[in-house]
Amino acid sequence: MYTMSICSLLLMLFSQSVLAQNNDYIEAEYLTKESKISAKYCFNHAPNYLRIESNSLADALSHVTWSNFQTTQNLKFRYRSVRLPKGQKGCLNYQVDVKKLSQPRGSKQLNQVHADSLVITTDELLLSPSDQKYRSLPQITIHHDQQIQVSAPWRLIKQSATVTQFQIKPSPRYSEGYLAFAPLDQRNIQMGKSRLRLDIMNGDHSKNNDLIEDWVQTMAGSIVSVGQAFPLTELQILVIVTEGSGGVVPWGQVNRGGGQGVLLVVNPQHGKHRLFADWTAAHEFSHLLTPYTPNDRWLSEGFASYHQNITRLRVGLLDEATAWSKLWAGFERGHKSANEHAAPNLKLAGRKNTMQMYWGGAVIALKADVALQQQSHGRMNLSTALGELQNCCLDTGRAWSARQLFTELDRITATDVFMTLYEQVVQKEPYPDYQYLLKSLGVKKNHYGQIVLDDQAPLAHIRKKIANG
Ligand SMILES: [Zn+2]
Repeated sequence: MYTMSICSLLLMLFSQSVLAQNNDYIEAEYLTKESKISAKYCFNHAPNYLRIESNSLADALSHVTWSNFQTTQNLKFRYRSVRLPKGQKGCLNYQVDVKKLSQPRGSKQLNQVHADSLVITTDELLLSPSDQKYRSLPQITIHHDQQIQVSAPWRLIKQSATVTQFQIKPSPRYSEGYLAFAPLDQRNIQMGKSRLRLDIMNGDHSKNNDLIEDWVQTMAGSIVSVGQAFPLTELQILVIVTEGSGGVVPWGQVNRGGGQGVLLVVNPQHGKHRLFADWTAAHEFSHLLTPYTPNDRWLSEGFASYHQNITRLRVGLLDEATAWSKLWAGFERGHKSANEHAAPNLKLAGRKNTMQMYWGGAVIALKADVALQQQSHGRMNLSTALGELQNCCLDTGRAWSARQLFTELDRITATDVFMTLYEQVVQKEPYPDYQYLLKSLGVKKNHYGQIVLDDQAPLAHIRKKIANG
């Protein structure tokens, strides 16, 4: 016991001294005309090796050398790793041929509309030191042409016409972040203490940028109705404007690599009404209310599917009957899908069971909301519980399991609401029951199949609290 304590203390002091000594940095230059990024990753004390995390980068990397200010030697990657002279001061230089990188998902029209722009993932530029956990994360300085700006999930340090500098933030493993090198309309949206960096890649459609800003502000602002404040202090929001026959928001995703980011592909030619009626952005921003749970997608997708409707209801984008009709329709879609291709239980529902996973998870969110209000006699609800996560758990760069997160939520609320649901429903049932619950809340359907709200129902007061936050 005693020896353990000394060991831990020594390890701690050692790690801190190593962390303190690190002044690693990355310099990169985007050479637009040559479609290349030239980069150097510099160390005071080189790690044993650097690793490639992306398949795409493995094909696009060339001109790898090590220079220690006296000599330069060629190096080769073997099995995605390059060995460095451990402990030496110097830089690994490399080039990325961006034409060999794969195009990001959801942006098929990128090349048509934004021929001069580049969108890649953070892993398509960066290499990982083998001893990263003992090092502080580096700053990255990016040099670029004057007509290009850089969008990144990392913390922005400073920016001039041709140089943009960021502090890289911690990432959960296997998470992606997006970088854009493009003519961008860059705007800051201040939301309380939070800074939302809106980067609009607009091609020739700049006349819609004020509309896009208004829309992003409304959709991002809607999640403030859960937990009092915007959940993160800083956020990258990359909007890629598209055209053509796709929907008004053909694609949206939340990224957790290198910090938090939201990517939205938008066709504003559909007009303000359709843009504000679309659920995609509300869904993506709602993801930010919970931390990254890569192995429990039912939680992440379920809680986002629940909140995309609750947040829009609270800020007046949906009326109460419409919000409940959307939730009811979703719960039914999930139930039908669970009957048709049921995974043994909700916990195991995967990509083949999308509707079961999304909407079964949304029923769990509603159940937790109702049970918390019942157990606390109205003092707490799901919004107050998730609001507390802002103080401990949202921007730490770690991944969570549902069990870990639900245990934390039980600790925060001093209840057993979350783990009871996890053990009795998520791990056991293909799909949670929702019909009786909706009836108790006073959500019913008339003969024409329209939603009617019954204020005499036993849990009608809880339904009203859900609407008002
Ligand atoms: Zn989602």
